[in-house]
Amino acid sequence: MIYYQGLIGLILSFFCSAAFAWGDLGHEVVMAIAWQHLTAHSKETIKSLLDKDSSTLTAKTPIAMATWADRYRSQKGPDGRDAYQHTHLWHFVDVNIDHPNLDKACFHFPNHPGFASDGPSHDCVTHKIKEFSDELKRFHGSTNPTEQQEAILAMKFLVHFVGDLHQPLHAGDHHDSGGNKVKIFFRNKQINLHHFWDTSVVLSFGSDANEIALMLNKEITPNNVVNWQKGTVVDWTKESFETAKQLIYEPLLVSHDRNFYNHQNNFIEAQRIAKIQLEEAGIRLAYLLNQDLN
Ligand SMILES: [Zn+2]
Repeated sequence: MIYYQGLIGLILSFFCSAAFAWGDLGHEVVMAIAWQHLTAHSKETIKSLLDKDSSTLTAKTPIAMATWADRYRSQKGPDGRDAYQHTHLWHFVDVNIDHPNLDKACFHFPNHPGFASDGPSHDCVTHKIKEFSDELKRFHGSTNPTEQQEAILAMKFLVHFVGDLHQPLHAGDHHDSGGNKVKIFFRNKQINLHHFWDTSVVLSFGSDANEIALMLNKEITPNNVVNWQKGTVVDWTKESFETAKQLIYEPLLVSHDRNFYNHQNNFIEAQRIAKIQLEEAGIRLAYLLNQDLN
């Protein structure tokens, strides 16, 4: 199995230009917002799971763990290759904007009898959120050491992947690896569209995750909380996809303008969209964690 995964990983590394997710800051903001909406019991359980975590890839804090899955994926094995490349596809769901087919983009939601962290490489973020959330619920109180370790992995993957799902270009694709192959100009630099949504727009809010989270949290109304918690992970995927299609790809394709986000009104609109995505991700992450841990 390990040999098989290594082989798949090698193949993937040739064919996939990476869809990387919110940069670190975006993931940290999502967890920092979620933290404001967790019960005291959830917070305690998260801290006690982190205390039992032997990984040194990220600091043992709730906010730092939000970036763990990206570090884990690119960790090098003894052969110098990415040791956990089989988790690469789990970070997104490339639903084609012209011919959307979630089932296909999710590799038909593969059934896997063992631990979710050992699951097949061909799986999508939507399905992995469901799997890891179920596992966290089942194993977080387990005294079995193997199940306890899986609960820790499940928690860290879940925290990261709910963030990824809400980066719209992780849920929409136009034969361009979620915008990775689309070159645009932003503030005198050539970057790709995916990077703009991962990083540039988030950095425009500041550089401190806690401060950004506090600012965004103030904008969240009680009605927002009720509405955003409705639906399933599949519904949230469709929403993120529609955001990618209607609010990112379509305006860009109509304009044919590589300087699109250099226009002030387009940039302000991008900030508005990114804020909502980060806020929704934070609220939904808290909702799942509270459900799983209480
Ligand atoms: Zn990711």
